[in-house]
Amino acid sequence: MAETKYIFVTGGVASSLGKGIISSSIGKLLQARGYNVTIQKFDPYINIDPGTLNPYEHGECYVTVDGHEADLDLGHYERFLGIQTTKANNITTGRIYKSVIDKERRGDYLGKTIQIIPHITDEIKRNVKLLGNKYKFDFVITEIGGTVGDIESLPYLESIRQLKWELGRNALCVHLTYVPFLAAAKELKTKPTQHSVKELQSVGIQPDILVLRSEHDLNANLRKKVALFCNVDEKAVVQSVDMPTIYEVPLRMYEQELDKTILTKMGLPAEGKPNLDSWKKFLELRYSAVEEVKIALVGKYVELQDAYKSILESLSQAATYNHRKLKIEYVNSEYLTDQNVDEKLSHVDGVMICPGFGQRGIEGKFVAAKYTRTHNKPTFGICLGMQCMAIEFARNVLGYADANSREMDEKTPHNVIDIMEEQKSVTNMGGTMRLGAYECVLDQQSKTFEAYHKTHIQERHRHRYEFNNLYKAEYEKAGMKCVGINPESDLVEIIEIPGLKWYIGTQFHPEYSSTVLNPHPLFLSFIKAAISK
Ligand code: GLN
Repeated sequence: MAETKYIFVTGGVASSLGKGIISSSIGKLLQARGYNVTIQKFDPYINIDPGTLNPYEHGECYVTVDGHEADLDLGHYERFLGIQTTKANNITTGRIYKSVIDKERRGDYLGKTIQIIPHITDEIKRNVKLLGNKYKFDFVITEIGGTVGDIESLPYLESIRQLKWELGRNALCVHLTYVPFLAAAKELKTKPTQHSVKELQSVGIQPDILVLRSEHDLNANLRKKVALFCNVDEKAVVQSVDMPTIYEVPLRMYEQELDKTILTKMGLPAEGKPNLDSWKKFLELRYSAVEEVKIALVGKYVELQDAYKSILESLSQAATYNHRKLKIEYVNSEYLTDQNVDEKLSHVDGVMICPGFGQRGIEGKFVAAKYTRTHNKPTFGICLGMQCMAIEFARNVLGYADANSREMDEKTPHNVIDIMEEQKSVTNMGGTMRLGAYECVLDQQSKTFEAYHKTHIQERHRHRYEFNNLYKAEYEKAGMKCVGINPESDLVEIIEIPGLKWYIGTQFHPEYSSTVLNPHPLFLSFIKAAISK
């Protein structure tokens, strides 16, 4: 395609309506028509990236292959589209300002007064167009975080206004709003949508398409009314009703011809159909599953839906491909003890020991690791989860009762998990972990190799501590093998107890690279072991 087309996705009325899912679904439909699509997210907060935010603030922190700590919506983009995103796909207000201020200090602005308009808005626009200009995508979908009407969103909206003016038919705005159902009146209410469109119009943006999120079906009359009040074509008002799975959303958008509407509005041919065959097959498989696989998630953020987002999605994809319905049991590691562990874990098919930072809830992870090791229950430990498996093994098998990670106990005499050499000099916390994709070579005699069917893999990391190689021989002698090694640094990336059914810990985060059509081999193999009797 000669010119890149830009689609902006804004949200109104309330947050958490699923802009990420709508952006991903639009991306999916266009991709399934053969276009080269990417999605980026702008987050209107001042942090440079979400890496320093705790999960209570921001849910999971996603990591891209090039080592950027990113918003969890990038996980949706990758899972839906099967693409790899990079640092250029997630921009925050903090990064925009930092870049402008750095330029000012360098003297790039030649004596000018630096202002929100044009300098900040130009920097925003540069970051939107970068993906089109540099990487030559056919479509760049830009999701604006937050809700229209927030003070923080204004520079982004002004940039969209300017881009729409500059780019004409090559830019389009999709606005996602909410249509509440008032139970007492038994009525769906469109007024909040009208207000939020007015808010957009007041900053000079006329949305081209409205996606109405609702818990109930919206009839044609209601959509007609919204179209009339908001200056949007009737055909361009679509509904997004709650679905049993988010992966159903692209199909519901397709049914309403959202892809056709977009293409027509942007002056592109709209005949033909997207090829969604494999996507539909995945959904058929998901709905045909009858039996459950029960997995316990042992972590300290169990009350937070978004804290382990990618792990949950990876497990659910792997369950589908194993013809099972995923049933998650959340186990708060802060309250897990030797006394109650049997009650919490004996009935589940497999246990996931979650990643994390800091001391809180750590003892419960050791309890879980010990229980599943001694009861031969399939267990998957990720990052801190893997480190806990190693520490528990050192305490209860190698006989070092005081074994620990330096993260939890700086003075531990048995530092089986130690701080990485390059981390010792780190003073700034932001963006300084071992981040992004690194190579790993697998031992061909391992279950891990059986899962991957190859010796060289690349997986994404986010950690400061590592398995201490001084103890490697002792571990291996006692039955815990180091089956994945970074060829350059010799860091242990995977541990496994071959004598058990499935007891594997990874220093990396495989959950970041599991997608709907390409589920991750380790998750597939874990679920397979969990259901095999
Ligand atoms: N806190 C551990 C480390 O920094 C593990 C990090 C994680 O689980 N992502 O090494």
